[in-house]
Amino acid sequence: MPLITGRDHVQDIYTEAAERHWVLPAFNAENLTSTEAILAAAHEFGQRSGQPDLPIIVGITRAYAHRPQAVFYTHTRNARVGLDLFMADLRVLTQPGSPFADLRVMVHLDHIQWDDDRDLLANDDVGNYSSIMYDASALPLEDNIRRTRAFVERYRERLLIEGACDEIGESSRGVSVALATPEMAERYFKETGVDIIVPNLGTEHRAGAAALTYRDDLARAIHDRIGPRICLHGSSSVPPDQLDRLFADGVCKVNLWTALERDSTPVLFEELLRHADGAVGPKQVAAWKASGWLGHQVPGQGALSLDYCTTTYRQQVVFNVMKQIVGAFLQRWYR
Ligand SMILES: [Zn+2]
Repeated sequence: MPLITGRDHVQDIYTEAAERHWVLPAFNAENLTSTEAILAAAHEFGQRSGQPDLPIIVGITRAYAHRPQAVFYTHTRNARVGLDLFMADLRVLTQPGSPFADLRVMVHLDHIQWDDDRDLLANDDVGNYSSIMYDASALPLEDNIRRTRAFVERYRERLLIEGACDEIGESSRGVSVALATPEMAERYFKETGVDIIVPNLGTEHRAGAAALTYRDDLARAIHDRIGPRICLHGSSSVPPDQLDRLFADGVCKVNLWTALERDSTPVLFEELLRHADGAVGPKQVAAWKASGWLGHQVPGQGALSLDYCTTTYRQQVVFNVMKQIVGAFLQRWYR
């Protein structure tokens, strides 16, 4: 079916999800392999659980300096081209004849910057998306509220709006940003009129460390004031037992990306090592063994084979792992 857009249609799915105690995951993609892995996982889960029209959110960032995913979607490194390609991929993958045609696919624009994405925001095609995260969180709170409210007034009838009431930290930058307070979250929610808020609950973007603490107590305190309107970012840093309880904390949506890339890389790496002779040929394996780059267990007897040295092969490995990762999140949150 066509992409689910229009505020009412999107809102209906959120309402249905809340009634079922589901947390809606939004998986970001910055290449076609990820986009297809997300849809394939949703399709398989939907078929297995007797829900062929399973809702699924696919997201992308645009000019977000920390991770401009529309830029990465194309080797032209042009955000406009990348966003158009991403949207074209989603339209083709959801049209009749595609294996994913039964899914209810929503498209989310993530971390849309009040300044760097100005050209996009000035364009009325913003209404072509299902939801947008308007991110003015780098500004002082008053400015953030004022700009976010103006955006909500302009587009509230057309799409679901997620607002960034705080800045979410980034693990590699070593800069700690303040946690949300329930008072401030409530004020931001009420004064801006956004549908969902992203408070800083202690998680971090692109986190690889286990030293972070997701503050479920803070999430529940915010939930008490604004209802189940919390979107969690930085969830790749949250331990599994807490991920299982997100719905009870008032989290209705989780934006994910890091886990897909972080956890597929070791699998590709090992796969290439196991087929090193096929991937680079025995001579190269021998040279790397001699120089100490590779150990003795790495196979070096077989012949170079196209089976192991194509982009198709590497993307298939990544696709399979990403599909598993997405499937595991669906299993966790669509219960
Ligand atoms: Zn984020």
